Amino acid sequence: MEINKNLKCPREAKPKRVTEVVVIPKSKHGVSKKQINQHALQIIRTLKEHGFQAYIVGGGIRDLLLKRKPKDFDIATDARPQALKKLFRNCRLIGRRFRLAHIFFGREIIEVATFRAGHETGEPHEARTRDGLIVRDNVYGTIDQDAWRRDFTINAIYYDVEEGALLDFVDGYRDLKHRILHVIGDPNVRYCEDPVRMLRAARFAGKLGFELEQETETAIFKSNHLLQNISSSRLYDEVVKVFHSGESIKIFPFLERYGLFDQLFPLTAQYFKENAAAKMMMIDMLRNTDERIVKDKGVAAHFLFAVFLWYPFLRLWQTLCDDGFTKMLALHKAASNILKEQSNYTKMPRRIVAGVQDIWSLQPYLEERRPRQVYRTLEDRRFRAAYDLLLLRAKLDKSLVYAADWWTKLQAVNRKAREKMIAEL
Ligand code: ATP
Ligand code: MG
Repeated sequence: MEINKNLKCPREAKPKRVTEVVVIPKSKHGVSKKQINQHALQIIRTLKEHGFQAYIVGGGIRDLLLKRKPKDFDIATDARPQALKKLFRNCRLIGRRFRLAHIFFGREIIEVATFRAGHETGEPHEARTRDGLIVRDNVYGTIDQDAWRRDFTINAIYYDVEEGALLDFVDGYRDLKHRILHVIGDPNVRYCEDPVRMLRAARFAGKLGFELEQETETAIFKSNHLLQNISSSRLYDEVVKVFHSGESIKIFPFLERYGLFDQLFPLTAQYFKENAAAKMMMIDMLRNTDERIVKDKGVAAHFLFAVFLWYPFLRLWQTLCDDGFTKMLALHKAASNILKEQSNYTKMPRRIVAGVQDIWSLQPYLEERRPRQVYRTLEDRRFRAAYDLLLLRAKLDKSLVYAADWWTKLQAVNRKAREKMIAEL
């Protein structure tokens, strides 16, 4: 798609639909106080005792209404961050672009956000770049303004714990019932303000099985390139959130359809265009990762990136070998080159980069199985991840099946049988 770098955000985010607040009583929505986290209830109680407003809002209430298990409960209040700090001893203020309070209960964290206004005011506390990207977002406001500045209507439903009622300023309840994901306001403006909202759209559409409202959808095709305006560190965090959500297999098709995957992993996307079969390996990995998360088993971001970037890496490695570099030197050069290039899009922390390099570097050892290297390879702390990559590769490349089976067997047998297997190499 043609990239239009000159696309500027229209200045005003005119609300498309003006609605009065709709109050949905407990008898109609069915959510009960018992389903809310105890610590969140405690915070709300304290805030109310001190004369502040406080509501549960966002993903927690959305998921309860959808009969899904909420990941966490976020609180919205009219108390300012400094007031929160005074009120709660276990409170830390975080974020510059978006100032939030984290209230700690042991290892649990409850996020408390002060009501914010949208961006029509032009007050000094808000800041945008010339492209319309919001870089600071600390203009405080009222609850209805807070609703309008949220991303999707289904994420802007407020739960008043005491009354048991839902407050809905943006027709979120209706959209939720119709299973529609709908950007609040003009999608072109809202994606421009914060392009990460497009990734969130894909994530919610995939994991909730919602349809995108038409303009919410078409605006993504127009604006997907704006992801380039987002810092590569933030994009890294968002990518991990998507692929470690436990529902990546459902989200990935949306990322692809909307051209977002191309923006995040251009090297990989390009490779898939030329070799459709290579995508199979990634799909396989995503399916495994989702399963592991459902079973509460650990997952690692370095494995994710090692698989995503494997084929672009392999191609460059082969090219450098053809150019006359030794196999291992070519491997290291190709790895650092590909990882550096990818960092322009999603900046991986150093330990993740090192993890990917280790996983790739182990592949020749796994393939060649030199007797003197076997134990060292087996004891390498990246062995497990490297072996998992070999298994995925072997599904597409039959010449690797023998080696993959050999390592599978080696791990299953006792020491004596191992010695025999190695001696027979
Ligand atoms: P989940 O936690 O299940 O991934 P969530 O909707 O709770 O989903 P959070 O990132 O926890 O997502 O954000 C909490 C709420 O803050 C959202 O529901 C939404 O109302 C608001 N929000 C988050 N990110 C944005 C954004 N980029 N733009 C506007 N509002 C946002
Ligand atoms: Mg949340």
